[in-house]
Amino acid sequence: MSRTIVAAAVAILAAAATGAQTPNKKVLYLTHSAGYKHEVVPLSMQLLPEIGRKSGFDVIATKDLTFLSPQSLKAYDAVVFYTTSELPISDNDKAGLLAWVKSGKGFASIHSATDTFYQWPEYGEMIGGYFDNHPWHEEVTVKVEDTRSPATRHFTGPTWTLTDEIYQFRNWDRSKRHVLLSLDTSSVDLQANGVKRTDGDFGLAWTSTTGRGRVFYTALGHRAEVWQSPEYQAHLAGGIRWILGLE
Ligand SMILES: [Zn+2]
Repeated sequence: MSRTIVAAAVAILAAAATGAQTPNKKVLYLTHSAGYKHEVVPLSMQLLPEIGRKSGFDVIATKDLTFLSPQSLKAYDAVVFYTTSELPISDNDKAGLLAWVKSGKGFASIHSATDTFYQWPEYGEMIGGYFDNHPWHEEVTVKVEDTRSPATRHFTGPTWTLTDEIYQFRNWDRSKRHVLLSLDTSSVDLQANGVKRTDGDFGLAWTSTTGRGRVFYTALGHRAEVWQSPEYQAHLAGGIRWILGLE
């Protein structure tokens, strides 16, 4: 056994003996609405820190864009966006955010985070697509495509039925993402107003990597009832634990 490994083992035993723990990873939850303001935002800012406490990570919720500066990001392990439109941040902060994620940090994004930064293609590439209308707001069936992901393994069956606003995406391609959830199109009217995709492929949650960083997106989370449901909370907790490297 090398000296380093012995030293590490001794440190772990010492920590166990004294009850000392490594501090929780820190997540910045940013909810800036430069465009449409979702009613659920204040509730989400209350719930995500609670979800974090139960799931082993700390969440600091803010609408303040100065938290995205490279200097501020140094204090965090992941960022979660619930945002709309073109956030007024500098090109330096934009480049800094991408480089920060690629260096091995986490980026999670919820619902209207894809209705954000249309003028910044690298952001769209990182998140995996852009909002392109929401043809449905009703009870739908969602297919659980990955039953082993930390974000979806709590689903006991192959589907999840919920009522929410359902997004459609442009520039979304399942061959470039790992799909966790998608819309069961037999549960909706494909002739509904605003349906543009002709391939019938409506991904609703996925993961990907960028550099050494991890990215998680869920399109769900418009309604308060969704945020309050145990299924959704476990979905978010698992996705965020995954981008933090805790899974
Ligand atoms: Zn919405």
